[in-house]
Amino acid sequence: MKKAIVIGAGMAGMTAGIRLAEGGWDVTVLERQAGPGGNLRAWTRKGHVIDNCIHWLNGTREGSRLHALWRSLGVLGDGVGLIRQPFFYRSHLPCGTLTMWRDSARAEAELSEKSPGDARAIRRFFRDARAYASGSPLARATVALRWFKTSVGDFADSLSDPDLTTFFSDYLGREYAALGLIVAYSAFIAGDADLPAGGSPGVAERMAERFLSLGGKLVTSVRATGIVTKGGRATAVLTDRGEGYECDRVIAACDPHVTFSRLLPPEYAPAALGRIDRDPRTPHFSSLHAAFSLTSPFPPGAAWTNVIGGDPAALPTRTGGRLILRSFSHEPGFSPEGKTVLQATCFLSGEEADGWFCPEAEYKIKKDAFVLAALDAVKTAFPYSSPAVIDAWTPATYERFTGADRGDYIGWLVPAGLIPPRLPERVRGIANLSIASGWCRMPGGLPTAARSGARAAADVLLSDPLPRRFSGASFPGRKKLKKSQKFDLPS
Ligand SMILES: Cc1cc2nc3c(=O)[nH]c(=O)nc-3n(C[C@H](O)[C@H](O)[C@H](O)COP(=O)(O)OP(=O)(O)OC[C@H]3O[C@@H](n4cnc5c(N)ncnc54)[C@H](O)[C@@H]3O)c2cc1C
Repeated sequence: MKKAIVIGAGMAGMTAGIRLAEGGWDVTVLERQAGPGGNLRAWTRKGHVIDNCIHWLNGTREGSRLHALWRSLGVLGDGVGLIRQPFFYRSHLPCGTLTMWRDSARAEAELSEKSPGDARAIRRFFRDARAYASGSPLARATVALRWFKTSVGDFADSLSDPDLTTFFSDYLGREYAALGLIVAYSAFIAGDADLPAGGSPGVAERMAERFLSLGGKLVTSVRATGIVTKGGRATAVLTDRGEGYECDRVIAACDPHVTFSRLLPPEYAPAALGRIDRDPRTPHFSSLHAAFSLTSPFPPGAAWTNVIGGDPAALPTRTGGRLILRSFSHEPGFSPEGKTVLQATCFLSGEEADGWFCPEAEYKIKKDAFVLAALDAVKTAFPYSSPAVIDAWTPATYERFTGADRGDYIGWLVPAGLIPPRLPERVRGIANLSIASGWCRMPGGLPTAARSGARAAADVLLSDPLPRRFSGASFPGRKKLKKSQKFDLPS
């Protein structure tokens, strides 16, 4: 039986692992954290579950290829409830609230009524979001061409109403490609961006269960430290436990920066990786977070995703003092009776994210200042909710736990006017090593990571086929999981 080692149990690694196990390979996934999921993870604090990842999942609508992929991986399926969010996000502004409703006609009407002078530009935005949501390749190409050179900031500044300017730049930030905003919103319009009940930990658990039930092996709390090569082939993976896992194929499903700086000599790194890293138009992308426990009754205005104002001097400059709030009132199991978790996020890019890799004393001061500013903003927006801080985390936390370069987790920021570059998923000079990662295609995210993992596994299965009797669904070594395994991940 042929052996594959997958490094990293994030979405990309678990997808590759499931596909290879289905194909009859003996697969071991090595993961440095205490459980699977990578960024698709959760942890508990003071009796609350903190869900790190899913704000929305593309591919929840039946009928698409992505939906079929999710079902085949156990991400979605019969018995997995879907929760429909009524809007993409809602901004709290001096004028009141403005909402990017899933119902695009309603959103368009409300925004046009707020600023009749901007009705034409608003119509253009919603017309193109609907066209993109139609799924027609021609419509999508037309929309992409129309918006290719426009940033969120360009579009927001073209509006005469200052509240609308803030509203449109509230979620992704001003430097991001406006097409990215249209694409993200179009998934809501199309009913293709729901939430799997149980959130990120539920998805990670189901995938791990599926992998283990196929006979896959998951080794956690172990860090790969090197890939041994001989004669242009990877022969083994070394770990920090001093073990060597011999194998016929390796799939590196960790951040490619880790692969090409810590697991392999840097000369194997594809030129594209350095090029994208050096390009000032594509800075790295990470974020700051704080989590609060809110007491009952939960303010209805804080449900789902809201963007509120805070002290611009105390919050990162990129956000202009805005803070994205994500509530988990739709997941009652995530908090003790009578409480709800509310998470606050500020996206950071480039130098602002790098600034969190500083001496400990400075780090602590900055983190406390951020938490206080976030707490203040939440208290002001929702005065009767008595928020209490339960956790805070930064790019440095992400780096500590996933090893991802500078704490990034979704690849690079996608600017306007750039055809997103790609990373090769094969390593030149090492015939049996593949790369699977959300970093391989911009803008990253769970679908990108899963597709990358599926491609890497397909490459193995096609280029290195097993004897017929070993391949396919009837593989005899398949084991059944006796009971579901639960993984609680420390932050
Ligand atoms: C706050 C936040 C919100 C997000 N929201 C969404 C969303 O709403 N929708 C969406 O689609 N995406 C979202 N994402 C993005 C999504 O989480 C990522 O794109 C996806 O999880 C990336 O998967 P991956 O497998 O490529 O990488 P990772 O999840 O980073 O997995 C890599 C794995 O490799 C492990 N590893 C690294 N080095 C080693 C080593 N040396 N040895 C062993 N293991 C190693 C890491 O611990 C990690 O588990 C969000 C991410 C974050 C952080």
